[in-house]
Amino acid sequence: MSGGRGVLSVLGRQTKGCCTNQKITLCSSPDHKNAPLHNSADARVTCTLCPHACRLGAGETGFCRARENRGGVIRSKNYGRLTSLALDPIEKKPLYHFHPGGFILSVGSFGCNLACPFCQNASIAMADASIETENVSPAQLAALAEELSRRPPGNLGVAFTYNEPLLSYEYILDTAPLLHATGLRVVLVTNGTICAEPLAHLLPHIDAMNIDLKCFREGGYRRLGGDLVTVKETIARAVLCGVHVEVTSLIVPGMNDSAADMEEEARWLASLSPEIPLHISRYFPRHRMNTPPTPISTIDRLTEIARRHLHHVHRGNC
Ligand code: SF4
Repeated sequence: MSGGRGVLSVLGRQTKGCCTNQKITLCSSPDHKNAPLHNSADARVTCTLCPHACRLGAGETGFCRARENRGGVIRSKNYGRLTSLALDPIEKKPLYHFHPGGFILSVGSFGCNLACPFCQNASIAMADASIETENVSPAQLAALAEELSRRPPGNLGVAFTYNEPLLSYEYILDTAPLLHATGLRVVLVTNGTICAEPLAHLLPHIDAMNIDLKCFREGGYRRLGGDLVTVKETIARAVLCGVHVEVTSLIVPGMNDSAADMEEEARWLASLSPEIPLHISRYFPRHRMNTPPTPISTIDRLTEIARRHLHHVHRGNC
């Protein structure tokens, strides 16, 4: 994932230290200047971006490690701070039904609002603001994306991915209009854990999403630090909003590998639309989990079940 720096080098661009005003440009667009924050009845401020609803005292950082109470306002700590940047095939997101065969400039920062023990990107998702980053302003990112779109193999736009992109809410809102102005697309690869109001504000700026549906049991989601209801709502609202949505379920042995759960999940997705692509992916040991990899036979069995309800079911990591 550090390959992105190579992309910048190829273009002869210097990103380190090139954005000099990051301390004051957070949330610079007037329509979300004071978005997701709130309340100053006491010294603590509640972040309303995601259901964790962290109540933060002055200088405190939230559960996600990416947002803090700065001067009585919740601010992003990872605005324009990229840990990863690469030109990836769109299928790698995975998005199999959104401009197949294309490439997309993919960027990541740090932080996550879940705590999955099997996290596949823990080195950045579980990192805090002390991680090494490069500052890339929205204008710089949009210019790079546009430049890449004019040379082989081309570029569809920008995918905010690798760590949890919803924590870069203001950065995405500031960058998306610049990308759309040149005909480029905006993609999110996300865990879908966001409150309804900021989601409603964000969705009109998004062209495609891959949303993780990590399991179909509330208890299972709670153990990961999230909740099933919120993720289902994010998927449903994105579909209703006309965003191209694909869903990924990473199958972890003993957590979400039951036939009954997949039957329920696929049936629910089909109730939104049987055209929603579902990626059923094989887990490999990572981060704090050393359970052996998901047997391919399990992926095959669950794929077969899901295909009874959905028209596009893909095996992943097999
Ligand atoms: S986005 Fe971060 S700081 Fe805000 S509520 Fe969620 S975990 Fe807490």
